[in-house]
Amino acid sequence: MNTQILKVDPKHPEIEKIRIAADILKNGGLVAFPTETVYGLGGNAEDSGASKAIYAAKGRPSDNPLIVHICDYSQLEHISKNLPPEAKKLSDAFWPGPMTLIVNKNEVIPHETTGGLDTVAVRFPSHPVANALIRESGCMIAAPSANTSGRPSPTKAEHVIHDLNGKIDAIIDGGPVQIGLESTIVDLTEEVPTILRPGYINKQMLESVVGEVKVDPGILGTENVHVRPKAPGMRYKHYAPKGDLKIVSGEDDKVIAKINELAREGAEAGKKVGIIATEETKGLYHNGTVISIGDRTDEYQIAHNLFDVLRRMDEIGAEVIYSEEFSTPKIGNAIMNRLLKAAAHQVIEV
Ligand code: AMP
Ligand code: MG
Repeated sequence: MNTQILKVDPKHPEIEKIRIAADILKNGGLVAFPTETVYGLGGNAEDSGASKAIYAAKGRPSDNPLIVHICDYSQLEHISKNLPPEAKKLSDAFWPGPMTLIVNKNEVIPHETTGGLDTVAVRFPSHPVANALIRESGCMIAAPSANTSGRPSPTKAEHVIHDLNGKIDAIIDGGPVQIGLESTIVDLTEEVPTILRPGYINKQMLESVVGEVKVDPGILGTENVHVRPKAPGMRYKHYAPKGDLKIVSGEDDKVIAKINELAREGAEAGKKVGIIATEETKGLYHNGTVISIGDRTDEYQIAHNLFDVLRRMDEIGAEVIYSEEFSTPKIGNAIMNRLLKAAAHQVIEV
């Protein structure tokens, strides 16, 4: 299949290009497009054939449901039933934006889109390109991240081209995304709203709107690896670079010393070593290829660069990768959730 690349202005997307992509969606085809979180791989959410094609293009297990992207709150009401009052409160506060709500579905969205579940994940994105595409197509757009299943999520059009060129109808290139981590998923089908996947909208922000919020015990980190996460997508090995990634955790100077020791051993064993460091620490390593994830004091920059850095480790052919830890104040949970999954929870404490 020939994949059309449509380059657009991310802030003011050219309507004639959006129309080309919208027509593809109306006809059951697939289009990758930028959102404020990561690039999505979209198809008409009401078309079970389009959803099946999304799973096929990504190589995604068919029990891992897709997120339905909308451009108006009324569409949430249209596809759900028994909406709790928190839906309106949270969407008033955070939509359009990087938050996905899980609600009970009615018959409008087919089970192919929801991985067989009777609940549906819904998000109203803020990115002008995503918005224009949903409006112009007249479709609600089912879209998981536009990567090959298991690979780091795409934060640039180049990442999507690398994974999906030749497998889908079109890719809208709107440049790098803003946030770089997938949306916060909040389950509203339980008594208390529950975070199934951490993201830019953190627990405190949600609690300031609806009071008590829980976190799915299945995603709480190393001590809970045996609890099954509720979001099917959080159960798979994910975001992984090809090399063996380990996180080194502890006080800064001990971490640097340990990574230097491990990197030297790796180099001596003839291994290609990659190191994930920060602007502040990148000059302190003596072996391996050091890639800076950004400024340690700017957690949004770290989030923005994370998946790109993991992909760059593949490009340099890193066989063993050592990363510093990034437990930052506001979105550190979200960053470390992705990094821990990429490392299959291998943490070296020093
Ligand atoms: P992606 O868009 O690739 O980040 O994947 C969507 C994420 O949303 C996956 O982790 C899914 O498992 C999760 N998800 C989608 N629909 C539901 C649902 N109805 N219940 C729980 N998790 C969901
Ligand atoms: Mg994904």
